[in-house]
Amino acid sequence: MAESIFSKIIKREIPAEIVYEDDEIIAINDINPQAPVHILIIPKKEIPTLNDLEENDSRLIGKIFLTAKELAKKNGISEDGYRLVVNCNKNAGQTVFHIHFHLLGGRIFSWPPG
Ligand code: AMP
Repeated sequence: MAESIFSKIIKREIPAEIVYEDDEIIAINDINPQAPVHILIIPKKEIPTLNDLEENDSRLIGKIFLTAKELAKKNGISEDGYRLVVNCNKNAGQTVFHIHFHLLGGRIFSWPPG
């Protein structure tokens, strides 16, 4: 699998607006935001899609949810509400094959989604 754009961002080969980073996770502002807050939370481990998750990724995925909670609070969207979205493969519109979680907030979202 060719290296994803997110791996290049993690390695600082291309720029991004980094809003959080630790040894396992990076979070960046989406380049094409779909809401006033649109942050991508990305594990540094190269996992192409949700289908590729393994049992031993469960701690990492839990940590991503906790990071989402903290970033929501930091961005003032905790109380009004927000969405955490993972797109998997073509029917969901996944375009970058390095798993990532969209944290979206600052506006009202419809349900069911389009
Ligand atoms: P997905 O459709 O779930 O694969 O989402 C990929 C997301 O990555 C889209 O929302 C894009 O706008 C975003 N994206 C692509 N390239 C970049 C980049 N260089 N910096 C920040 N976000 C990006």
